[in-house]
Amino acid sequence: MTVYLNGEYLPIGEARVPVLDRGFLLGDGVYEVIPVYARRPFRLPQHLARLQNSCDGIRLANPHDTGGWTALIGDLIGRQDFADQNLYLQVTRGVAKRDHAFPQGAAPTVFMMANPLVTPSPAQFEAGVAAVSTTDNRWQRCDIKSIALLANVLLRQLAVDEGAAESILFRDGHLTEGAASNIFAVKNGTLLAPPRNHRMLPGITYDAVIELARGHGIPLEVREISEAEVRQADELWLTSSTKEILPITRLDGRPVGSGTAGPLARRLLALYQTLKDAP
Ligand code: PMP
Repeated sequence: MTVYLNGEYLPIGEARVPVLDRGFLLGDGVYEVIPVYARRPFRLPQHLARLQNSCDGIRLANPHDTGGWTALIGDLIGRQDFADQNLYLQVTRGVAKRDHAFPQGAAPTVFMMANPLVTPSPAQFEAGVAAVSTTDNRWQRCDIKSIALLANVLLRQLAVDEGAAESILFRDGHLTEGAASNIFAVKNGTLLAPPRNHRMLPGITYDAVIELARGHGIPLEVREISEAEVRQADELWLTSSTKEILPITRLDGRPVGSGTAGPLARRLLALYQTLKDAP
């Protein structure tokens, strides 16, 4: 696999970052994950806009403009020998003597890699996945796509320890998101989504689902969702760039709705597929 590091393309085994990189020592950086279908990055302008917001959120000068990123990403995609890719990019505040405060004049470290994209199979979609619920104990800027993911790591591991795929997070009794995904609920045919704010990452897939629901007249309420509403939902889904739209069919060991993928999940996934094929 060919990766990109600070202006060079090289085999992953040869890519090296100095130990004083602030990403390594302090988790001081931001990232993006962009799905690539048939060598076309999906919703690239939206991902680059979110990257800009993340850079602004940590007061890091974005090392490339939209044209620059688009060219680099296109180049990396073209160098892989597989067409569907999971493109990861991260920018850190660079290499400097260890100190919490921002260094003077450090150049950001830019790293990108593309792995084969593996999305859920139709059978995995139909069966759905198990989730557990837990308290969202992260910081108050979950809208920044920070590489400092320790809280998310611990929260996701809680699910894995229970044989589940994802943790559904609640803050002050309200749904925020998953440890690595956004969460939607369905009740009586209405799609419920928590509002975009600093307590969750504004998912590119989340935005796509909301756009599709609005565009196709699917009843939608974007508002705070209580823990009770999640527990009584007819359908629960997680969404992310790599999982797309994936039903959650068990929550804390109990079936969600029918215990298999629901009708609205099927409809939205079909609509989502059409977005991938759009020019
Ligand atoms: N929330 C969190 C915490 C995430 O890590 C992710 C992405 N893995 C998402 C939501 C979903 O975002 P996207 O749809 O842009 O992948």
